[in-house]
Amino acid sequence: MNRYADILLPLAQPLYTFALSAEVQPALGSAVAVQFGARSVYTGIVWRLHDEPPVRGRVKSVLRVVYDRPILHPVQMRFWEWIADYYMCTLGEVMRMALPAEIKPHSANADEFVAYTPRCEKVLALDEAALDADVLSRMQRRAPKRYALVAALQQAGGVVLRREAKADAAVIRHLADEGIISVIEREIVPESVADTVALPTLSPAQSQTLEQIRSAFDERDTVLLHGVTSSGKTEIYMHLIAQTLAVGRDVLYLVPEISATSQLVERLRRAFGGRVIPCHSRLTPARRTGAYMRLLHSEGGNLVVGTRSAVFMPFEHLGLVVVDEEHDGGYKQSEPAPRYNGRDAAVMLAAMLGAKSLLGSATPSIESYANSLSGKYARITLDERYGGTLPPKIIISDTLRAVKRGERKYRFNKILLDKITERLSRGEQVMLFQNRLGYSSFVECSECGWTARCPHCNVSLAEHRSSHTLRCRYCGYSMPLPERCPACSGRVESMGFGTERVENDISELFPQASVLRLDGDTLVSDAACNRILSAFARHEADILVGTQIIAKGLDFDNVTLVGILNADNLLNTSDFRAGERAWQLIMQVAGRCGRRNTEGEVVVQTAEPSHPVFGWIADGRYDAMASALLAERQMFSYPPYTRLLRIIVRGASTDALAVTVGALGERLRNRFGSRVFGPVAPIIDKVRGEYLMEILLKIEVSASFARARSIVRDEIAEVRHLRESRNITIICDVDVQ
Ligand code: ADP
Ligand code: ZN
Ligand code: ZN
Repeated sequence: MNRYADILLPLAQPLYTFALSAEVQPALGSAVAVQFGARSVYTGIVWRLHDEPPVRGRVKSVLRVVYDRPILHPVQMRFWEWIADYYMCTLGEVMRMALPAEIKPHSANADEFVAYTPRCEKVLALDEAALDADVLSRMQRRAPKRYALVAALQQAGGVVLRREAKADAAVIRHLADEGIISVIEREIVPESVADTVALPTLSPAQSQTLEQIRSAFDERDTVLLHGVTSSGKTEIYMHLIAQTLAVGRDVLYLVPEISATSQLVERLRRAFGGRVIPCHSRLTPARRTGAYMRLLHSEGGNLVVGTRSAVFMPFEHLGLVVVDEEHDGGYKQSEPAPRYNGRDAAVMLAAMLGAKSLLGSATPSIESYANSLSGKYARITLDERYGGTLPPKIIISDTLRAVKRGERKYRFNKILLDKITERLSRGEQVMLFQNRLGYSSFVECSECGWTARCPHCNVSLAEHRSSHTLRCRYCGYSMPLPERCPACSGRVESMGFGTERVENDISELFPQASVLRLDGDTLVSDAACNRILSAFARHEADILVGTQIIAKGLDFDNVTLVGILNADNLLNTSDFRAGERAWQLIMQVAGRCGRRNTEGEVVVQTAEPSHPVFGWIADGRYDAMASALLAERQMFSYPPYTRLLRIIVRGASTDALAVTVGALGERLRNRFGSRVFGPVAPIIDKVRGEYLMEILLKIEVSASFARARSIVRDEIAEVRHLRESRNITIICDVDVQ
């Protein structure tokens, strides 16, 4: 018999050993209640069973097993271990992220510890007495209300939800007292599963692609589907999903953004009914828990749709993973640990469960493309838009030339303004894209050069004119917009421009047009977002101004013109992926227009029209772009030729920070030599009152990355012994985005 269990707790520490009594004999992966600290009770997970007593001290016993079955399958335990090892965090941090809060309750004292119980609902059911014809006819005469309820129950086959029964409490109580009906509490069951799956009919090009994917899966576990926007990738996924569900296996369908899920879930529900399980971070805790338990108790045949955290659902019969928009940086979690990439983790999970993975994108990431070149992935292309709509015409507009010729008003080049006029006069819609929030990026004194900066983060504050404030986009700090420069009383000017200003200016230029704006400021909730989008879809506005949010997954029939107002601030970032990202974003934004019958146009405003990105955009040749970018990545040792590990060191004291990061840098340089870059201060070197330093490691793919991580772990552990590192946080970020 196992007398001890090593229990995982949602704490930063490793496993803790507890004793097991004869009555409490949990299986691996079970949730158990354990006392930790003076009186607190935590939910832990049984990670290891053995009979070696711990060397030190008295061990406490496991109080009890919490659920009727383990909450992790063995494969999740291996998956969590892989996440913790690869993304360099603790299993406790994985547990915190992976399990919905209600599954792992924690309370300050043992009596208050309550495990998750499924939500129940009341149903009314007919009892035998209701079959008595005499009783019924008497009731019909004397108590018509009671009779009406009984008749309704009969019509509904004997059972009705309490909240759907049109009867008041007194009527129900009477009938229950007379033994004619019973009021039963039962677990809420998900809506019934649709037996007949309603799938879209595929076009010949789509069917051919589907066949290609299927035969590619005979030889490879992962397929990269490179299909232009509007080629109908979703429809192809749906066919593959149907085939997987039909053989009783589960599907995991990932999208990068929550805002894309609600439209998609609706579309999938129409085809797959109750098999669809939405799973993302904006679900209420109860719903997330319900989704988790439903999958845990199921025998397969579910379609889990969600954002990256859905990889932590308890899959056992996984047959297929679909990662849509696989290039999207949103798959990477940056805070808190585990700093995992949902796409890569999903592919790993699929491999552990013998499932296939399909990565889809109109603009595949350079990494996935490289994987297809090396033969690790199969790559299948689909160049045809569904319904044969033409790809939009992309016009690169030279901003400096427009300025020289006096052909620019506010932030718009004449060619864009002319095209807006033309499209509006035809009753068509326009989208304007600017990847900056607010009114201006910062304010500057025209006399002395003073700029407003955040006191907690080393960044300038953005101007939000509608609320007359200056705001920090890192910590939310805000202050009133000063009328005059606080340093010299000079005039304060708005520099740069954000979506709010675009909205302002365009309304001034086109007073007859109605304008909507969708960005981080207006996106206060899903409902607000949907309201704006559906208003635009119903053509209640002519122009939609927005940030990245409008670039993704949206589908408007009547949009025929897209303006990208400043492509340069997409390119001029310090990110080694800037070129790739700019290209992807512009192609995605472009994909939003002319999806139906009219040819779309995209006007890209830039001060640097000779940048190679615009050449690739104009001629639309993905391979040319990818090979140019790959050559550049190889030259500068970036992924996919290396793996990047960033170590972020932060603390409130600059002295302690300097000592700690200096010591770590030196140790790492001794081990890794020229693969170490830094320590350097990042561009934003102070956030929320803490100073930041970074060390970057580039480990060539031919070297053992596992070995490199283990060295880094050891060296960090050494540095932790320093007196100065006591209040310093050290974070590892693997596969930096
Ligand atoms: P993608 O994801 O490749 O950009 P979508 O799957 O969103 O493309 O399809 C683009 C549009 O074309 C959608 O409105 C979709 O409903 C429609 N569509 C694509 N394929 C089909 C099909 N086989 N039958 C009906 N409509 C389709
Ligand atoms: Zn001044
Ligand atoms: Zn700040």
